[in-house]
Amino acid sequence: MIIVLKPRATKAQIEAVIREVRKLGYKPHPIIGVERTVIAAIGDERAHHTLETLTAMSCVDQVMPVQRRYKLVSRETNTRGSTVKVCGHVFGGGNFQMIAGPCSVESERQILDTARAVKKAGATFLRGGAFKPRTSPYEFQGLKEEGLRLLSLAKKETGLGIVTEVLSEADVDLVAEHADILQIGARNSQNFALIIAAARTGKAILLKRGMSMKIEEWFLSAEYILSQGNPNVLLCERGIRTFETLTRNTLDLGAVALAKAETHLPVIVDPSQGAGRADLVSALCKASAAVGADGLIIEVHPNPKEALSDGAQQVTLAQFEKLMKDLKPFLAAAGY
Ligand code: PEP
Ligand code: MN
Repeated sequence: MIIVLKPRATKAQIEAVIREVRKLGYKPHPIIGVERTVIAAIGDERAHHTLETLTAMSCVDQVMPVQRRYKLVSRETNTRGSTVKVCGHVFGGGNFQMIAGPCSVESERQILDTARAVKKAGATFLRGGAFKPRTSPYEFQGLKEEGLRLLSLAKKETGLGIVTEVLSEADVDLVAEHADILQIGARNSQNFALIIAAARTGKAILLKRGMSMKIEEWFLSAEYILSQGNPNVLLCERGIRTFETLTRNTLDLGAVALAKAETHLPVIVDPSQGAGRADLVSALCKASAAVGADGLIIEVHPNPKEALSDGAQQVTLAQFEKLMKDLKPFLAAAGY
């Protein structure tokens, strides 16, 4: 860390800061300038107390990290990029995985019809919410345990791996019994107690970016998972809230390119929540491939008009089949 002192700090003040730095477990290296003094504090932040408290001293202007705050997810720790293997499918390493299925699991018929169709069209994983995070308490909250049972049935039928959201710490073990990938949703992506509990299952975690989350905060949430000893993290960009109203969210593909450059984790794009409009999904899939994503998660429903959640953004089974065909040349051009 670098501690920048205010201009004209006195010798006694500089010495007081140096003493504090030592007390917190770091080795101080003062650089005395004409106007300002800067103190480099050498030591690993993970093993020592935080130096940020020094900003409380009246002579301290700023305390700045020299290294990134996300150490384990940083690409510096794995320059080639990591891979996450789930159900025999590899995320990262030049592979492109397709996760598809309804926003919510609604019935046996709905999930089985969707699972068979998306598998036939080339999807490798089935998504479907059993526990749904709805803005209003009066909206469909998901079939919960019954939904999980139906997902397991669909897996048995089709062999597709299961991706489903876990909403609460209390349900982590139950959801992990049925899911191959645990989804941490946008509304929970800084719910650290939930993230830690999910990480401890050892299952792969699809970590959505929160709708008002800075990219660094998203990486730090991933850091929570890695620091629990679980390396199986998939970052997922799903759109952020901006001033725009013609789309539900603003899909931040710049964040995808940045996440690929800054971290070693595979990155997935969710164009369904990203735009909130079924007619934009196919174009955003192509753009995701071009920007270096390692896969997509897409909402697909046999009859979107009657969907119990997110009807406007779900593509039909036929639209999904076409989307997969249309995507092919773009994947080839992007080198997948
Ligand atoms: C979903 O995938 O249906 C969902 C609720 O996602 P998000 O957490 O990104 O809103
Ligand atoms: Mn949804």
